[in-house]
Amino acid sequence: MEITPVYSCPCSNRTYPHRRSLLAHHRTKMHTKWVNENELRDLKISLTKRDNKILTLKNDNRQLMQVNELLLERIKTHVNPPPPIDRCIY
Ligand SMILES: [Zn+2]
Repeated sequence: MEITPVYSCPCSNRTYPHRRSLLAHHRTKMHTKWVNENELRDLKISLTKRDNKILTLKNDNRQLMQVNELLLERIKTHVNPPPPIDRCIY
């Protein structure tokens, strides 16, 4: 069984008989345009993922701050408990 290399490019799904012809294809406007569009698309996806991560972290931070405030209130109550009922003037 003979193994023959196949040179192809995902921008056109075409195959090229030689590596040299594939490299020549890489210099064409069509391929360059496809690379630029893919790069832009990938950058947009990456930016959206980072924006979502930032929103998630901001939300987590907000929730942790609320928990922290609650715990600080509980500590204050524990350190300075309200007076016993018999001393209460109400
Ligand atoms: Zn191509």
